[in-house]
Amino acid sequence: MGTTWTAGLARWYAAHGRHDLPWRQTQDPWAVLVSEVMLQQTQVTRVIPYWLDFTARWPDPASFAAAPRADVLRAWQGLGYPRRAAALLDTAALVAAHGWPHDEAGLRSLPGIGRYTARALLTLALGVPSAPPLDVNISRVAARAGAGAEPNEVPVSALEQCIAGARPRSLDPRRYTFALFDAGALYCRVTPACDGCPLQRGCAWRRLGRAPAAGSTRRPLVPYATSMRRLRGVLLAAALRNDGDLTHEAARTAAALVAATLPPARDPALIDQAVASLRADRLIGG
Ligand code: SF4
Repeated sequence: MGTTWTAGLARWYAAHGRHDLPWRQTQDPWAVLVSEVMLQQTQVTRVIPYWLDFTARWPDPASFAAAPRADVLRAWQGLGYPRRAAALLDTAALVAAHGWPHDEAGLRSLPGIGRYTARALLTLALGVPSAPPLDVNISRVAARAGAGAEPNEVPVSALEQCIAGARPRSLDPRRYTFALFDAGALYCRVTPACDGCPLQRGCAWRRLGRAPAAGSTRRPLVPYATSMRRLRGVLLAAALRNDGDLTHEAARTAAALVAATLPPARDPALIDQAVASLRADRLIGG
């Protein structure tokens, strides 16, 4: 793997990077964590208003930890995967009590924080030297441009070395990470848009004349899982209209309203299963 695959990245990032993303204006670890958690499964444009709202209402872990759970879940509605909000509440309480850990292992001991998010916090907020955060975009762009391969063809340790060894001198680790995010998100998608890509000059993938590998596209969502997730959303919304509580009757009523278009909502056992999973995730009371 060469170290020149990032040639041109710094100049391109200075001129064309997504500098106006609001969470890039801050290095406050709480604000950065909120953005990272929201971005885990939600697109950037949908996250922006939620992030602005959350960080204005709850500017630090202590204020967030003190917020009623139902308020938080209500504010989260529309972002999806509300388990993220519940984990964020737990993490906020721990950080409010004990402060931020300053290493990867300590951060990963917090609820909802995995390897990627821990490294993102170290690199983007805490200013602590770290192995590069490898999200799907960064993995793809580095594997292709640096190694001429798809990410699943390169060992993670090699990918980390490839990224760490190719950082342009003029980019600090934080801005280097943003630049790779942007090149991956804007050009090196599943189907790469190589024309105009800032890395095309040194890109091994392009040099090798590779096309996206079969199976490199994202797997379609499993319809069953998708519809159960929607049912959970319907039931959670019903609970939040009642301060987070959901009676058996209210669950049945809410499910009946969507049963025509949502098959699991016609099956009492699946409704019970969805309610039980919401309780297990502590998203609803009872
Ligand atoms: S030139 Fe193409 S394959 Fe290489 S990094 Fe850019 S978009 Fe990806």
